[in-house]
Amino acid sequence: IKGAVMRNETIFSALLEAIPLAGLLITDEERILCANSAATLLFGDNLVGLAYISVLRHPAVLNAIEVTLGGQAEAKTRYTAALGDQDVTYDMTCRRVKLGKKNLILVCFRDVTDVEQATQMRRDFVANVSHELRTPLTTLSGFIETLQGPAREDEAARKRFLGIMSKEAARMNRLVDDLLSLSRVESDERMRPIEQVELNTLLQSCIITMAAPAKSEKVDITLLGDESSEYFIQGDEDQLRQVFNNLLENAIKYGGANGKITVGIELVDHDATLRGPAICSCVCDTGPGIDPLHIPRLTERFYRVDSHRSRAVGGTGLGLAIVKHIVNRHRGRLAIASTLGEGTAFSVLLPAL
Ligand code: ADP
Repeated sequence: IKGAVMRNETIFSALLEAIPLAGLLITDEERILCANSAATLLFGDNLVGLAYISVLRHPAVLNAIEVTLGGQAEAKTRYTAALGDQDVTYDMTCRRVKLGKKNLILVCFRDVTDVEQATQMRRDFVANVSHELRTPLTTLSGFIETLQGPAREDEAARKRFLGIMSKEAARMNRLVDDLLSLSRVESDERMRPIEQVELNTLLQSCIITMAAPAKSEKVDITLLGDESSEYFIQGDEDQLRQVFNNLLENAIKYGGANGKITVGIELVDHDATLRGPAICSCVCDTGPGIDPLHIPRLTERFYRVDSHRSRAVGGTGLGLAIVKHIVNRHRGRLAIASTLGEGTAFSVLLPAL
């Protein structure tokens, strides 16, 4: 009999080890019979023989095991534990396992932190989008009411209000355009672009596109280097155009009137992160700069250093998020360097062909 029990335990251990989750088998004497290595990583070594209560301390977990030991076929719970300096969320399932005369409880822990984070991000995103749309919508509704009521006959007010309404409608349009761009970029982020693109020509054409807004802000844009040098990469031309247009637009918007923008392009023989030769294109401005505190978060959706200023210049808070996704799709990297009071440099490094 003893031999048979031993053999059973070996089989249980082998099966438990094959489950791709942290798992424990608990006996109806409330002790741990087997633990797989994923469970050992979570709860420590030498678990076999210990009372489960001394190992699993979370009240919801203990409760789930207790009701299963009491006869319920299955119990589930979700709980969050601090692991090092981060919170990890687990889906825990207890099931009764009847093996001959033995009643065992199989307890499994699945790490659902990523799913939980994605759900939270989706919630935040919807809340942000609603908030962003609500502000212009409230303004529009307010002015429509005023025009229908008190200002019905006031020619001057009507002209002024219609001007503001048209600005707010344009803001909503930009937001929807950026949201659609972001969703398109995200959906093909896993597909590697296949066109061959020459970046020097592309940069020159982006500078021409931005000439009018630059002129109206009295900003000067200079391209450094030889206009006829060629820098080839594998990419998606439309998306790369969007990257540089967004960076130039930001440099114009935030660089301040009478600022100077310099655009440079060069071959980097070896970029450590990209593990090979890269083309580095840089958009530098002479604006107020960005506090280093904000730099790591700038590419998050709707993150703005100064929301007031961003809205005043017509920003949606999505420009750099779009840039980051496009650069990721190209297996490149975005580097941001800034000195307060001096200016900011956005460098896009893309693998050279
Ligand atoms: P927005 O639509 O608000 O411009 P972005 O994603 O393009 O959104 O940029 C995020 C934030 O980063 C901006 O709100 C601004 O605070 C900051 N930022 C971007 N580019 C610059 C720059 N060249 N100089 C200073 N701040 C900048």
